[in-house]
Amino acid sequence: MVIITDTHAHLYSEAFDDDRSDMIERALKENVKRFFIPAIDSTYTEAMLQLEKEYPDNVFLMMGLHPTHVKENYKEELKHVEEMLAQRQFYAIGEIGIDLYWDKSTLSIQQEAFRHQIKLAKQYKLPIVIHCREAFDEIFEVLDKEKDDDLYGIFHCFAGNIEQAHQAISYNMKLGIGGVATFKNGKIDQFLNQIDLKHIVLETDSPYLAPVPYRGKRNESAYITKVLEKLAIIYGVTVEEIASVTTQNSKDIFKI
Ligand SMILES: [Zn+2]
Repeated sequence: MVIITDTHAHLYSEAFDDDRSDMIERALKENVKRFFIPAIDSTYTEAMLQLEKEYPDNVFLMMGLHPTHVKENYKEELKHVEEMLAQRQFYAIGEIGIDLYWDKSTLSIQQEAFRHQIKLAKQYKLPIVIHCREAFDEIFEVLDKEKDDDLYGIFHCFAGNIEQAHQAISYNMKLGIGGVATFKNGKIDQFLNQIDLKHIVLETDSPYLAPVPYRGKRNESAYITKVLEKLAIIYGVTVEEIASVTTQNSKDIFKI
């Protein structure tokens, strides 16, 4: 069986405090062997480093400040991001972006934090992992200003339409596809087969966004097999083919 890569999993989340090692074992048994771990803010850094220590062959860390955590102290938080990047290896700047669902009042500092972290990504030659919620226009506006050969990454939890998919791809972004592809009203299943598989990576966003039939429950990396099965149907290929292409895509992005 081909190795499966979960490009976005918050495995350090409190949601896994009671059964984290069992949960990771379940994923490894399903051949989900690579977990890319997005940052949120400095309060989670210690837990992320611990996770990497326990699973050095499977866990790969990102560093960044999540848009919903861009608050009054965002300058200190960005300083933490910079200090960590200067200290050791990370595989992406993420997750970063703009979220207008939770708080519109912070838009200007979210934009500032997003652009600042894009600059860090370019400086360290790292991909970015974008969080976009009700903010396609605002995100594209920033990407349009920042686009160049050094800017690339993943549009995490992509849930837009086909035009937005093409636009994201035009900025050197791959589309992170997860549970939404299995939702009855998720919409992306309607057009994904028109997007070449070379632009797709798989993710869970666990503990959030569990795929059908676990929708509404806690998500975990083992459930990525449900996304895999759905994509095999959408693209009319085997699950092995989906796993192999998307794992290769993740290697191209993260350089590991
Ligand atoms: Zn996330």
